[in-house]
Order: sequence, then C-alpha cells, then structure tokens
Amino acid sequence: MTIKTFEDLIKEVHEKGICQECGGCVSFCSSAKYDVLGFKDPYTPPEYIHKDKCLECGICYIICPQTHILDSELNKMFKFSNFDSMPIGYYEKIYSCQALDKDFLEKGTDGGVVNSILNFMLEKRLIDGAIVSKTYTPFSREASFAKSKSDLLQSSGAKLDISPQLDEIQKSSSYTHSIPLFNRYKFKKLAVVGTPCQFNTIRCMQDLGVTPSENIEICLGLFCYENFLFEKSKIKKFEKQFKFKFSDIKKINIKEDVIFKLIDDEIGEKTVHIPFNHLKKYMRPACNACNDFTNIYADISFGGLGSPDKYTTVITRTEKGKKLFSKVLDAGIIKCRDLDSNKKRDMIELISQFSHSKIKRKEEFMKNLE
Ligand SMILES: Cc1cc2nc3c(=O)[nH]c(=O)nc-3n(C[C@H](O)[C@H](O)[C@H](O)COP(=O)(O)OP(=O)(O)OC[C@H]3O[C@@H](n4cnc5c(N)ncnc54)[C@H](O)[C@@H]3O)c2cc1C
Ligand code: SF4
Ligand code: SF4
Ligand code: SF4
Repeated sequence: MTIKTFEDLIKEVHEKGICQECGGCVSFCSSAKYDVLGFKDPYTPPEYIHKDKCLECGICYIICPQTHILDSELNKMFKFSNFDSMPIGYYEKIYSCQALDKDFLEKGTDGGVVNSILNFMLEKRLIDGAIVSKTYTPFSREASFAKSKSDLLQSSGAKLDISPQLDEIQKSSSYTHSIPLFNRYKFKKLAVVGTPCQFNTIRCMQDLGVTPSENIEICLGLFCYENFLFEKSKIKKFEKQFKFKFSDIKKINIKEDVIFKLIDDEIGEKTVHIPFNHLKKYMRPACNACNDFTNIYADISFGGLGSPDKYTTVITRTEKGKKLFSKVLDAGIIKCRDLDSNKKRDMIELISQFSHSKIKRKEEFMKNLE
C-alpha cells in the first residue's frame, strides 16, 4: 500500500485552497523536532522546511481534517452516522444557560458558560490548564494557556484598547492557531476550547494515539459558521461598506447573523446586525470547504444561536461531557432557562438549518473545484 505524505497534502489540500491552517500536520509530524514542516506565514498553508528529514510515515495526511481518512472511525466513536440523518451530530441534551459569576457573565461572549466551566475544572483540579484564545482586535485572536480565573478573564471576548494595534495590522484573522500550543506546555490534564476543524484533527490524533493527545481531558467545542481574514485594505473596505469603524467594535456575537456592538464617543452604544452573506468577501476561503457547524466531535458544544442575549446554547454529547456538565449544574455555578419540549425542538430546528446550510455551502464549493 502506498503511504500518502505531506507531498499529497500539498496536491490534494493546499493546491485546492482548502487547507484550514489548523497546524496539526506541523505540530504532530513524526519528525517535528527536525522542523520538517512549518508556517512561513501564519495565514497561508504550512510548507516543507527540512524535507530531507521527512520519514514518509503518513501521519500528517491521516490527521488532516481535510482528508477525512478517519471519518468512519470517529463517527463510530461518537455514535454519529452521517450529516444527512443528523446534521448536528449525536447529542444527549440541549440547554440554554448563563454564568452566575458576574465577571464571567459580563466579560463572556454570550452567557459566560465556557469560562465558568473551565474555572470550575481548574478549581476542582480536574485539569492543570486550558488552551483558550485572547482577542486582540475584533478579528484577531491568539491561542493562550489559562491556569487561573484571572487568565480566563483576560482571554474573554471583550475588546480593549485596539486602536494602536489596528495601525500595525497587515493581516489578521479571527481563527486561532491553538494546536501548535500543545507542544509548548508540559501538562497532564488539559481542557481545549476550539472550532470544529480543530477538534476533527484532535480526535484523529487521539484515535491514532499521537502524543500528547492522551492528555486532553475535555474538548469544549464552539459552534462555527465561518471565520474571517482581513488584510489592511479589507478593513478599509469593511468600514466603508458598513459605515462604522473597526475601532468602534466593542464586542461581536454570532447568532442568526453577526451582531456588532459598537461604542463611540459621539454615537454612544449601538448594535448592528450583518447577515453572513454580506460578509462573504471577508471570510477565510478554506471555511467554504468545511461542513461542521456544531462541533460534532466535542464533548460539549457551545454557541450563541438558539439562545437569547447573554445566554449560551449548550449541547452535551459524550459520556465525559454529560458527566462534567452534570457536576457543573450540581455546583450551582450556572443557571439554565426553563425549556419545554417545544422550545427545545425549535432550538434544534434552528441549529439544524444552519448546519444544513453549511453542508450545502461546502457541497457547492467542492463541486466548483472539480
Ligand atoms: C471564531 C468563532 C466563530 C463562532 N461562530 C459561531 C456561530 O456561527 N454561531 C454561534 O452560535 N456561535 C458561534 N461561536 C460561539 C460563540 O461566539 C461563543 O463563543 C459561545 O457561545 C460561548 O460563549 P460563552 O459566553 O459561554 O463563552 P465564554 O465564557 O466567553 O468563553 C469563551 C472561551 O472560549 C475561548 N475561545 C474563544 N475563541 C476561541 C478559539 N477560536 N479557540 C480557542 N478558544 C477560544 C475564550 O478564550 C474563552 O475562554 C463562535 C465562536 C468563535 C470563537
Ligand atoms: S515525517 Fe511523517 S508526518 Fe512528518 S511530514 Fe513526513 S510524512 Fe508527514
Ligand atoms: S488543514 Fe491542518 S493538517 Fe491539513 S494541511 Fe492544513 S494545516 Fe495541515
Ligand atoms: S468554518 Fe470554522 S470550523 Fe470550519 S474551517 Fe472555518 S474556522 Fe474551522
């Protein structure tokens, strides 16, 4: 049998423009210590750095979220059959929740639930730390490691003083390079917050037993319809098109559309809703080739869609996720809205609609590539 290698990833993934830049191939290359692969530019696919050290083992090819080699094994692991029968993946229960801790609620993206759960796990020593993401500008994030409540609060979604950084930006993306952080810290029990593409890579690594994926205690997945990529010129286009300044964006929420909360000395506070299809030209191109909206391989998934302002939609999936969430509820650190079966059905229907739309978007995009 011929083993496919990074050479094949270049042909089948990079050249088609569908590399999601997750960094899995770079970080978990069997010969990573010799820097076989690397990102010359963080916003373009990785490249060979020392090709002569490649062992041609094929690990990079198998764990890439765009080759789908392990899909059926992962689907068995998560009792998940296919997107047509269950577009939101296997799930146990759905909730709509809010943090009771004022700091997490105030600084949280939606209901502050993800950070509350991470803080609970840190306090109870269920984890040593968590890979999260700091927001620098409205569309610029960087992976970071949190070991305390204050680290978590610093990584919360609020916009700080971004104006000086905006001047320095040449390119920025809302996508966070979390996977390369695994190799930087020595941990025994880690929580990871991430997007569906990242958890696809992580589950492949766990399935193959690629170190240090065995140390990942829990995968807290975010819903993700798309991420954005801005070059300096695009920021100017964006400001002209939507008639507000990047520097006035205080917060971004994503529900049925993208909600910008603005603050400015003259206008005061203002909320602007922009539909996803108006943001197409700012989207990361590879997101077109992604069909998972609800993070089907997470232990628990979280999103804004389906819940009112200041609440997070929570979907428990695995046994581990279910047990953790039940401990969190027992600890009384979050509250849940009362949802009767009709409300739950409506939430599932709405989330399924977005999932279907993402599946369709990928199908059409891939058809045009053929
Ligand atoms: C890029 C992106 C796209 C999203 N798209 C949608 C969408 O289309 N529809 C929808 O309903 N919801 C979407 N969400 C999820 C939603 O915005 C909230 O993150 C989610 O509801 C959790 O809110 P919370 O208040 O409970 O989280 P919080 O308590 O505020 O905690 C969020 C935690 O996640 C960490 N984090 C944030 N982004 C990342 C990241 N990229 N990688 C790793 N850690 C991260 C933060 O550091 C923080 O620790 C998206 C989130 C992101 C980051
Ligand atoms: S050593 Fe293995 S994982 Fe690394 S680039 Fe070569 S084939 Fe890929
Ligand atoms: S999607 Fe991830 S694993 Fe696949 S080629 Fe791109 S960076 Fe590497
Ligand atoms: S849409 Fe989200 S999950 Fe899919 S490739 Fe883009 S960032 Fe990753």
